[in-house]
Amino acid sequence: MPETGHAEVLIVGGGIIGLAVAWRVRRRGMVVTLLERGATGQGTSRVAAGMLAPVAEVEFGQAGRRALELGLRSSAMWPAFAAELQEASDVELELRQTGTLLLARDADEARELERQLCLRGSLGLRVERLRPSEAREREPALAPTLRLALEAPDDHSIDPRPVLAALREACERAGVKLREHTAVARVELDGDRVCGVALEDGERIAAEQIVLAAGPWSELIAGLPSGARVPVRPVKGQILRLRDPAGPGLLRRTVRFEGGYLLPRGDGRYVLGASMEERGFELAPTAGGVHELLRDAHELVPGVRDLQIEELAVGLRPGTPDNAPAIGHGALDGLLWATGHHRNGILLAPLTAELLTGLLDPSAVAPDAQELLGTCAPGRFTPPPGAAEAAEESSLASAGGLL
Ligand SMILES: Cc1cc2nc3c(=O)[nH]c(=O)nc-3n(C[C@H](O)[C@H](O)[C@H](O)COP(=O)(O)OP(=O)(O)OC[C@H]3O[C@@H](n4cnc5c(N)ncnc54)[C@H](O)[C@@H]3O)c2cc1C
Repeated sequence: MPETGHAEVLIVGGGIIGLAVAWRVRRRGMVVTLLERGATGQGTSRVAAGMLAPVAEVEFGQAGRRALELGLRSSAMWPAFAAELQEASDVELELRQTGTLLLARDADEARELERQLCLRGSLGLRVERLRPSEAREREPALAPTLRLALEAPDDHSIDPRPVLAALREACERAGVKLREHTAVARVELDGDRVCGVALEDGERIAAEQIVLAAGPWSELIAGLPSGARVPVRPVKGQILRLRDPAGPGLLRRTVRFEGGYLLPRGDGRYVLGASMEERGFELAPTAGGVHELLRDAHELVPGVRDLQIEELAVGLRPGTPDNAPAIGHGALDGLLWATGHHRNGILLAPLTAELLTGLLDPSAVAPDAQELLGTCAPGRFTPPPGAAEAAEESSLASAGGLL
């Protein structure tokens, strides 16, 4: 089939990442086409709870620190990003700045929470240790058996579904060419440079720059040599959407505990999430998954029993081998990656859009972009040239030594 179009920037994938990048890049005046195989905003982003929680998510080690840097930077961007997006789309967005409680229900979990408190203290993060009675004063729905709580007042939330609707509207108004029900089969190359994509129906679209933002499906797009791919795997998450028939008031803050979280939307709706399962692309909801979510939440917030179930959803988080995102140029000229956001794609959407915009239009580059992009370099999973041969030689040598 002949070439039917040309884009300065072609974005593959219409989840929160692809849409946010498209909107921001288009506002710099570039010609942007976004290709989405279904309808925009129906992938993993629609399933997400919407926690913007870099402080609660922080983990020990270097990788944890790097993730924290990205998370804090993006979290600080959310208030202005949401306000601008609301204005650009006329879709109402509510950023809930109510903070998060981390809970322990027994002595082991309380010890672990103390360790987590030290870690956050050492990183200069705002976290307050609360006795059970203090936590219950703030959230009376918590069980009397609670052992310990930490409050992270700067971890917030937003409902991703209105955000996705707003991004779609803002993209359309700004002049992004949105092509839904358009599946990309392969990326096309001209030597070491990308030159366009071929769609599943055979149509070809030429492009100077391609952004791969296809979430956990990014690695399935054909046409890239193995050294130019970013490994992305799906991490299954089951999540319940609940409603309190009595209206809002059971909880004000998000509460997190070993095995899950319960997030109030503020209007009587709650999100109870989420399982973390390595099961490939399987999307089946399971009785065991739901049982574990409800059991854990019920131990800490007994009132959960009276909530009505509105929806059980399953999503696939895009995870790289180190679970940090892949943002920026890879091995091929003209190909940029924006995937692998794992548990934090909603949180990291504003920052990802800013970093990609700076790469596509260097006049828009953020002062700390180089450092942040270093953390997310897509090439970090590619062994340096000659490494595979060296490894083979050394294993042959040690095998020889055994004989
Ligand atoms: C249960 C659960 C809870 C979560 N909670 C949170 C949270 O509280 N906070 C947070 O920050 N993050 C959360 N996440 C993570 C977050 O949802 C993801 O990191 C984020 O949605 C990834 O966005 P994305 O745009 O990369 O992927 P997606 O939203 O999946 O978008 C990718 C798009 O690419 C399209 N696509 C795929 N292949 C092709 C192709 N060949 N051609 C064209 N289009 C294609 C898909 O149809 C899809 O629409 C959660 C995830 C899960 C599963």
